[in-house]
Amino acid sequence: EIHERLVGSEMCIRDSSKSMGQNFLIDPAIPYEIAESSRANEQNGVLEIGPGIGVLTEQLCKRADKVVSIEVDKRLPPILAETMAEYENFKLVLEDVLKVDLRTLLAEEFGDKPVAVCANLPYYITTPAITALLESGAFEQVTVMVQKEVAQRICAEPGTAAYSAFSIYVQYHAKAEILFDVPADCFVPRPKVDSAVLKLVPLDKPAVETKDEKLFFALVRAAFNMRRKTLVNALGPVLGSSMSKEEITALVEAAGLDLSLIHISEPTRR
Ligand code: SAM
Repeated sequence: EIHERLVGSEMCIRDSSKSMGQNFLIDPAIPYEIAESSRANEQNGVLEIGPGIGVLTEQLCKRADKVVSIEVDKRLPPILAETMAEYENFKLVLEDVLKVDLRTLLAEEFGDKPVAVCANLPYYITTPAITALLESGAFEQVTVMVQKEVAQRICAEPGTAAYSAFSIYVQYHAKAEILFDVPADCFVPRPKVDSAVLKLVPLDKPAVETKDEKLFFALVRAAFNMRRKTLVNALGPVLGSSMSKEEITALVEAAGLDLSLIHISEPTRR
């Protein structure tokens, strides 16, 4: 019935599709599969981002004791009140996920219970949302649908064209894996790109040891931003105030990196 309602609410979807990344799933097999992979069960609470009209939410509520869904679009609560009416374990929080204090919300809603995140993420907030989820250090597992190209970039191996500063960021915090692809035809309205379901399992401790995490990520970002600069020149803006060019050159050599490298990644496409 939820899918019939989706068709009924198409006007609302069209109105808002551009501004809030709203592409709603219409193939019922996909939310089923995502929920099955998400660790939504009696042991874990579930946090969903962007329930839309509740297609994935329903599958999560069938599996977990409690599902809290954060939705920013004020037009959706009346639709969700109907589509989710039979689920007493569903709670809607009308907020922007990027403005919510996740740790406080989790403590209030789930207490000490472990929490898994599951979402068909709006594409325009993929990077900040995943960053906020990993940064909070609060989740058992994050299972999210994202643009396929972004999922591939996140899971990319070193030395490949897709490897990026964000691959390093995510893989520093979590084990990342693509579970399955989802073609654009499975959504209304149809997005221009295909999607993929990404599973992130936070690591007990970061993948590499750093003395200064902030500096580490500043160096990583600078290195991947280098576009037609040598690595030594690219690192200048981060290290230049405390080191001479010769010292940076010595560091790059000591790390076993090629001094003549001038382009190590694809420019990020948005
Ligand atoms: N879960 C539904 C589905 O799979 O059909 C909808 C997914 S749709 C790609 C993304 C949803 O996220 C929309 O319902 C949209 O309103 C909501 N959304 C967009 N930006 C948001 C934000 N900053 N915080 C919370 N929800 C947001």
